[in-house]
Formats: sequence, structure tokens, C-alpha cells
Amino acid sequence: MNGPARFPNVYDLSKVKASKLVFWGAGSVGSWAMSKLAYPWWRQIVIADPKNLKVENIERHWLDESWIGKPKAIGCRETLIEHGVPGEKVIAHVGDAEAIFEEHTDAAAAIVSVDDEDVKYRISAWCEKHNIPMIVGSVYAQGKGGQVVTLPHPDKVCFVCAQGALGNLEYSGHPADQNYGFDPTQFRSPEGAPQAVPSLGAPVGIIADWMAMSVMDVVATTKKIDPTVLMIAFQDWVEVRRLRQGDIMRELSEYIALQSKLSMQRTMMFGPEENGRFPLLIRNSTFPLALERWSECTAHTHDVTSASNI
Ligand SMILES: [Zn+2]
Repeated sequence: MNGPARFPNVYDLSKVKASKLVFWGAGSVGSWAMSKLAYPWWRQIVIADPKNLKVENIERHWLDESWIGKPKAIGCRETLIEHGVPGEKVIAHVGDAEAIFEEHTDAAAAIVSVDDEDVKYRISAWCEKHNIPMIVGSVYAQGKGGQVVTLPHPDKVCFVCAQGALGNLEYSGHPADQNYGFDPTQFRSPEGAPQAVPSLGAPVGIIADWMAMSVMDVVATTKKIDPTVLMIAFQDWVEVRRLRQGDIMRELSEYIALQSKLSMQRTMMFGPEENGRFPLLIRNSTFPLALERWSECTAHTHDVTSASNI
């Protein structure tokens, strides 16, 4: 075989060969997740993204400058081929997700990194309807952290359940922030053209790595994968839960003190009280939250009365 040697026995190769991956979104997070999953053995890889690569994307995107002004989906397809994925296995779709929903109901996983919340919910409904495992990655403003939502059985615990459990359903149609809280016009070349926002590449890459690992776990192993939100914090403090005063806070305080005694850097602390609750903050760490079906979720088309048994 030409090209780099590969080690196909880490995961169940027969599962990989039977699996179609669909990438909804080929922005920075999606493209780097793709780069980590650029194996030649997949049955098929589908990349859907309606947009072109912009100059301010470059610092954090897998594609290079030669793709500026051209469709990201096409660029990612070509780059996957350069990395050894046979061209006949890669489909690029430059357009809306809905246009190809019906063609890919046999997907083994949906890897979602679109910015638009409405599109995310439509993809969620598609995953729920066809029970397609869904892995959703996002990066917090200014790259302080991010999260990876893994939903191995969306017919039982779906993305709406996850958002409900996390208290994220206040969304009311605001346009998504596609620049991670930065104004790209702040970063201009001497000629005045917008430039890449510095320093986002690393956090984006870390979130993408976690997504890729989650995809492989869900698709190519026999492990029982639980619905999870993995919250990831880098140097800055990121809130992960709100807790009432009580025993759990005392125990957590003891744990935090223990970290210092062990010469570990403190990775948790409490923020100031707000409405009777204390925010629990983390940094330099990951915080996996178990997800259950949300009792108020209206997204399920199937009977989910037995969902608590999963
Ligand atoms: Zn649900």
C-alpha cells in the first residue's frame, strides 16, 4: 500500500467498513474532527456545509489559504482524498442539510458542528427519527472551553433532552456567534482586510479531538456508551453546574482542598452565590455530565415510556 502505514486493529474494522459518517458543518470544529477520522476504510463520508471558507477562518481551520472563497465541503473532500480516503467514498454537499436528509438515513453517526441553532435542532429531529447517533461539538466564546454532547441513542435521549437538562433552551432566534465572541474586524491586515482571530486553533483542535474519539467509541466499539455532555475548560474558569448549599458543597470543598494538599493545581472552585445557588467552576479539566431523557422533551416521535430502563 502506498502512503503512510496504518494500524487498523485498534477498533473493530468491520464496523468501520460498514459505517457511513455524516459531517453536518465543515467549519473549524467539524474540519478538525474530520481530520482525525480520515481513515480510508469508512463505507462513506458525507460532508455538508453551504458556505465558503473565509479569510478569518484560516487560523482555526483544517483547510489552507488556497480554499479561501471556495466551498468548505469541497475543500474538505479534496483534503480527505489527499489524506488517503478514496474519492469514491467521499460526498460533498454544498447546500442546506435538509436537502440530503433522506439520502443518509443509514448514517452510523452524525457529527454536528453547525453554528445555526435552528439547523442543529432540525438535524436533531432527523437523528431522533432514524436513531442515528449524534455527536455535537461546540467551542465557548473566546475559546475558554467547549463541550461535546454524545447521544448514542437519540430515540431515547436526544439533543433537545440534552439542552433541556443543561438549561440551554432559552434560545429565541438570536443569530449564532460564528466568531467565538470576537469581532474579526478587530484583526486587520495593514491593508485593512479582516484576518484570522489569533489563538483559537488550539481550543478548537482539543474539542475536535474529543469529538473524534467519541465518534470512534460509538461507531467502532461494542462498549456501552452513555449519553453524556463532556464539558471542557482550558485556562479560564468555566461554569459547569449550579449547586445549592448543602452536604455536596462541603464534600466538594474538601476535595478541592485535597487537590492542593496533593500539589495538584486546583481544577474546581465555587463562584459567588446567585439566587441561592453557587456556580461550580472548572479549569484545566474535563467534566462529564450524564444525560437522561428530559421529562419535558417534546421531540420524541417514538414511545419513550421505557426510556428510564436504558
Ligand atoms: Zn429528547
